[in-house]
Amino acid sequence: MDFAAQVKGSVDIAAVVGEHVRLRRSGPHRYMGLCPFHQEKTASFTVHVTHQFYKCFSCGAAGDVFKFVMEIEGISFYEALKSLAERHGIPMPKRSQYADEDSKLRGSLYAMHEIAQEHFRANLNSPAGETARAYLLKRGLSRETVEQFGLGFSERSGNHLLRLLEQRGFPAAQIEQSGLAGRREDGSMYDRFRNRLMFPIQDAQGKIIAYGGRALAADDNPKYLNSPETPIYKKSYVLYNLHRAKEPMRKEDRAILVEGYMDAIGVTAAGFGPVVASCGTALTPQQVKLVKQHTPRIVVNFDPDTAGANAAERSINLLLEEGMQVRILELDGELDPDEYCKERGAEAYQQRLEGSKGYFYWLADRARSKYDVRTSEGQVAVLKFLMPAVQRISDQMERMVIAGDLASYIGVDRGMVLDSFKKSVAERKEARFERQEVALRHDERILINALLTRPEVAAEALPELRAMESVATFPSHRILQAIFALDAGGSALSFEAVHARLEPEDQHMLAHAALIEDTDVTAEEIAAAMGSARRTEGEYRRSELKRRVKEFERAGNWQEALRLMTELQSLDRHARGLT
Ligand SMILES: [Zn+2]
Repeated sequence: MDFAAQVKGSVDIAAVVGEHVRLRRSGPHRYMGLCPFHQEKTASFTVHVTHQFYKCFSCGAAGDVFKFVMEIEGISFYEALKSLAERHGIPMPKRSQYADEDSKLRGSLYAMHEIAQEHFRANLNSPAGETARAYLLKRGLSRETVEQFGLGFSERSGNHLLRLLEQRGFPAAQIEQSGLAGRREDGSMYDRFRNRLMFPIQDAQGKIIAYGGRALAADDNPKYLNSPETPIYKKSYVLYNLHRAKEPMRKEDRAILVEGYMDAIGVTAAGFGPVVASCGTALTPQQVKLVKQHTPRIVVNFDPDTAGANAAERSINLLLEEGMQVRILELDGELDPDEYCKERGAEAYQQRLEGSKGYFYWLADRARSKYDVRTSEGQVAVLKFLMPAVQRISDQMERMVIAGDLASYIGVDRGMVLDSFKKSVAERKEARFERQEVALRHDERILINALLTRPEVAAEALPELRAMESVATFPSHRILQAIFALDAGGSALSFEAVHARLEPEDQHMLAHAALIEDTDVTAEEIAAAMGSARRTEGEYRRSELKRRVKEFERAGNWQEALRLMTELQSLDRHARGLT
């Protein structure tokens, strides 16, 4: 057995999922809960312990325990494997060279960032850090805040950090991989960050994995320079300040999303805990999932300028797509969140926060400022502008209420709004085959479950089922073919092995067959299902014979027709004996 299979065999998928989803038992082998991958009010997320598989019957998310950990934590297969093995006290195999090298490299990268952190902080407090300290003073950051956020400074010239890392014995290739140093075309290396205020970027556990550096000289470009992606830093999976904000997010049941490091620091220092920033990138689905693990409610507080508003607009659709409840916090006086907290004070920010608008009103305001709603062209344009957001509301009641409110808010005809809404919802439904009912016969369902969970039944039934011609007409025929193929290849039958051989539509059918009904199939049920399959086979063969008899008759081949007729009569007699 390979190591992954060993780990999978020793972890309890329900316990692992249960760390992120409140599960309740819904049968001897099954748990259910609210899906962590989309927003829902009634549970359609299923975890099946026998099949070691999870499936959401609404959004279609599905997989094994590794896939779950990869998706929910935004990590690679190898990282998920390692984390599960560690948590369950299963030692990683020594002989796996890849595993060894990978963890060694990651260990070195973390260590180099620790060294860099000490170095940058010492710089800030040295005479060389004077401009940086002056800048921080000007921005109104207290000493405690600078300490709390671990801010530092990279020197104006030289390759101090590079030399330091070399002295500590890190090979050049690893230093390059850390992103802390760059390599020129001639092969020589240099400190990536120079004359910059340094912001350590930490993962959800608080380990430093990268840096953001703000230029201190006016003519230094870019204004913000970030670490490149490295084996420990995948920027679309990282939110600045998450490790500090995650507890407050849970407690307050909301997150505040700002744009930059200084905003996150300033708002946090003003006494607001659940603040995160998507520094250096447009917001990504993975970042939204990181927030959603802690709360479904988010307040977007971007800069008041056009770029900020455009970024907010893009983020809203993404947030809705991920099922978040979105509000928009707008600040007056052209102040960004950091400046606002400093100039107007925490109380004023708090008031703005509590008064933040539902995203629809904010979007409607944007639309009104862009188009003239007194003209019918303007009204159509406004609706077009709002529709992408509307399409993402999954709750019908909510949709109707918003339609009504919105119509009066933008001053367009209510009927027109409702029509567009209905149309957009119809389009949405077409796109989702996952919601469709699956037409599975009862006997198929029983047989699939029996074949996957009871090897002794499978051994007996498979040769007979395989010989049945009518199997090709079963809705589940591709599932059964996959089972036949696995069995013929001498592989053990398992839900997962069968699942892996199927196209998405059949995977969905298999999930319906094996994950939804959660009672053990009894010997009587199996016998009845085999009986039913035999009758289907009998009928199928008779109708096939009848068809061929007709063909021979039409062709004038009476001899063959007669022979088949005799065969048909004997089948009929046999069928009567069966029923
Ligand atoms: Zn789902």
